[in-house]
Amino acid sequence: MNEHTSDSKNGHNLVILGSGESGVGAALLGKQKGYEVFVSDGGPIKNNYKKELIDNGIAFEENGHTEQKILAADEVVKSPGIPDKNELVKKIRAKGIPVISEIELAYRFKGDSRIVAITGSNGKSTTTSLIYHMCKQAGLDCALVGNIGYSFAKQVAENPKPLYVAEISSFQLDDIKEFRPDIALLLNITEDHLDRYDYKFQNYINSKFRIIENQQPGDYFIYNDDDEVITNHIKTISLTTNPLPFSMTHEVQTGAYIKGDRMVLRAKDQDERVTMNVNDFVLKGKHNQYNTMAAGIAGSVLDIRKEKIRDSMTTFESLEHRMEHVATVKGVEYINDSKATNVNSTWYALESMKQPVVLILGGVDKGNDYTILEELVTEKVKAIVCMGLDNEKIHHALEPFVPVMVDTKSAQEAVNASYRLAEKGDVVLLSPACSSFDLFKNYEDRGTQFKNAVKEL
Ligand code: ADP
Repeated sequence: MNEHTSDSKNGHNLVILGSGESGVGAALLGKQKGYEVFVSDGGPIKNNYKKELIDNGIAFEENGHTEQKILAADEVVKSPGIPDKNELVKKIRAKGIPVISEIELAYRFKGDSRIVAITGSNGKSTTTSLIYHMCKQAGLDCALVGNIGYSFAKQVAENPKPLYVAEISSFQLDDIKEFRPDIALLLNITEDHLDRYDYKFQNYINSKFRIIENQQPGDYFIYNDDDEVITNHIKTISLTTNPLPFSMTHEVQTGAYIKGDRMVLRAKDQDERVTMNVNDFVLKGKHNQYNTMAAGIAGSVLDIRKEKIRDSMTTFESLEHRMEHVATVKGVEYINDSKATNVNSTWYALESMKQPVVLILGGVDKGNDYTILEELVTEKVKAIVCMGLDNEKIHHALEPFVPVMVDTKSAQEAVNASYRLAEKGDVVLLSPACSSFDLFKNYEDRGTQFKNAVKEL
């Protein structure tokens, strides 16, 4: 175990578990605010983060935890990647030491700044980026924080802004206390990460809803009114905030809806409406129409002018690894949707397909239920190329619904197999419905290897 000590001051003793982007961000902020900070990581710390800690005189250890030191903390910031079943975390809790997440620490020091916080099972990064794009277009002084870009805490420490647009995961919400966004967005809730929630869907739902638990009457809650998981849960709680639903199935007074090709958006009673043809949205597919509506409402609550809202919706460029067009080779289009790490994202990807599909599926299964794909697979998929170390579950679930299924164990093999199976006019879609850790470093690596293999065709 390596240990590096520092010149820490006396005072609030803050221990940070995990030293990725959020852990290091929390360390920098804690140090800046005069806390005595100690960072502890059970594994190796990446060199760039280690350098940041050393440069800022922050004490840390890696490849193991000094329990005695950690259990002496006044407060612990736990990185979102560390589950509650971790033995050390159990001991910390048993001792009654408060455990918070990095966004809670950032919130403590954000001052008067406003927060737009986006959560949901899918579409967070897309919607967060679109809102940020809208704010920038409108000339607002703001920062993009959370799972994309800098951690919230690091931004608060190094470059505070009057407005933060934050992508928030359920893991970050698990350990909040006072965190209160001025505008909260809940895009959808589908089964995901159940391994972290004792395989109880309700626990995951409760976690997502914590985004509004501290909201007050002047705040706003933008949510998907077509999502029954969300609407059923709302019936069981009393809202302390202004609800702004969005829907494709019915009209709403305030919020947004799509009827035919027309989107109508009105965030506050007195405001005039923003209307727009959904075919002008730059983000395609039904799922992105939801994301675009949600972002538009947020923009409107922020008093962004309707022309700017419309402009942003037509100029935003979609993100890498999300329904990203890679190339067309011999009349076959290749699409990289590597970010689809659960069944629901894959469902939306397939839903938006107009041509026959060769679907690349597989990886690490997080407790997936593939039955929701049966209909779309039957209708649109001519072959499934499994890409993973263990594809048994996919075979079992989907083999009856598709004429051809093959197994591959790398991006290159998967692309080559798809190339053989696809004919002019087809689409090869990488939308794996699984995590990537069996064969790849992460979803970015998976997407990049896929794109490289396509470019070599
Ligand atoms: P997140 O940050 O929540 O993981 P992303 O915006 O990165 O979400 O998109 C992840 C995947 O989910 C992509 O494959 C995308 O096609 C799909 N997706 C995006 N928005 C939605 C949505 N509203 N509902 C379902 N799937 C979506």
